[in-house]
Amino acid sequence: MPIRKKWKPKWSEPCPCASGKKYKDCCWRRLPDFDIGKAYTAALREKNLDRALLATRADVTQYTIWHKTNTAPALAAGGVGLQLLRIDVNALGAYVGRLSSLYFHLGLWKDWPAVLDRLRTNIQHPAWYRKIAYYLSFYYLSPGGDRAKARQELAKAGPITKKEEDLELLQLYVDLEFDDLPFAARMEILDRILELDNDRENQLQYRGAKAVQYFMIGDAQTAAQQLAEVIGFVRQTEADEPLEGYEKHLYGRLLQLLGSLKRYKSTLKESALQFHALLLEDRWTQSGRAAIQRELGDSYRYADEWDQAEMAYRQAIALGGSHLDKVHVAECLLYRKQIDAAATEIDTVKRETLPRHEFEDFVFAYAAIAIWSAKTDRLTEAKTLLRALGPAEPIFNDRRLNLLLRVTETLASGTPSAVAKADSTPKGGLATVASFFELKPNIAGIGFNFNAMIDYFARKKTKGEPNKSD
Ligand SMILES: [Zn+2]
Repeated sequence: MPIRKKWKPKWSEPCPCASGKKYKDCCWRRLPDFDIGKAYTAALREKNLDRALLATRADVTQYTIWHKTNTAPALAAGGVGLQLLRIDVNALGAYVGRLSSLYFHLGLWKDWPAVLDRLRTNIQHPAWYRKIAYYLSFYYLSPGGDRAKARQELAKAGPITKKEEDLELLQLYVDLEFDDLPFAARMEILDRILELDNDRENQLQYRGAKAVQYFMIGDAQTAAQQLAEVIGFVRQTEADEPLEGYEKHLYGRLLQLLGSLKRYKSTLKESALQFHALLLEDRWTQSGRAAIQRELGDSYRYADEWDQAEMAYRQAIALGGSHLDKVHVAECLLYRKQIDAAATEIDTVKRETLPRHEFEDFVFAYAAIAIWSAKTDRLTEAKTLLRALGPAEPIFNDRRLNLLLRVTETLASGTPSAVAKADSTPKGGLATVASFFELKPNIAGIGFNFNAMIDYFARKKTKGEPNKSD
């Protein structure tokens, strides 16, 4: 192999770390060479974020030098290089992730889009432009951000298909766009994610997500079969490789979903145990704890253990949980025949704060309460709500139409029939199962949590050896 001429940034040109300074005033004194990443890790350990920023900038510059010296010429020569390119995109992408976390924590967040724009030229390849689009989209998901902007930025990455190579991009795509995709396209994307990453955590989340998709088109049998398979996979591997962190959480959800589909009380109790065990860990933030209390409540609710379910939801509310918890408290009251209390509770729900699937849950609970109460004004309101609801998934539409029929009948007759009462029990169907597997980027915590993600970026290891030479 001929020795390649080392690529070097020019003194008076902008530094490749995208600080906005010239190279001669920036990274050149700090280039880590093969100690790449070490100074960053040490600075982070000492909680010295300013030093961590300088170190990670130098890492970005170092890696860019390697890329431009080795991979870029190989790519330009054609044939070889795609494998190397992928390694470079992921590795440099991980350093950029660290940079994002530091910009956020150091109060430099407003500068971040401009930095990303400057980083665009570090690797001149569409795969890298897509990585930049990923981080830019993520920028708009920060607190006070704009989801529509996030979607626009992601769209700039170009069409995302079942051939996509970038796992992170796929995961974000699932979070932002999944609701608008048809079933077959959803399945293709989930299968692609499963194919790209064998990691057990990834498998648990996205195999569970497939089961949810089957459930939502009304194929409970395939859903249960998929769940049984992935639960079997956990049982086989957990002796040698105990579940950790988020896996425990996912496992609790898988058990919960299978238990609720098949009405297996023992499986639901097993899932409740998983959530109880999680609550014993001291790593949760208050909102994390509230989210686990809610899942615990769900396990008990599906098992018809109304007292325990109510207790868990009330804990969630005490921890600052959402208005969805109140919807569930109302249900717990209803199914213990405390109809007036249920009605009072559901009237306190700020329905406009609920996201789509949670709003569906609200409407279904509202309709059930209206049927049992047989009050005209409630029934009329329920009818309006059910008519206006346009659920995308067949299973929720069936539930909607059925409740609409029962509400209308009850309005006409003045008292609910036995059938109407039966149809408005939890066995009639579940709505929150749709958001159950929060199809969010699969990382470090509960659902999509911007802070958890930014911390994940800070800790994330760079995969693959630096491409020092070929
Ligand atoms: Zn620099």
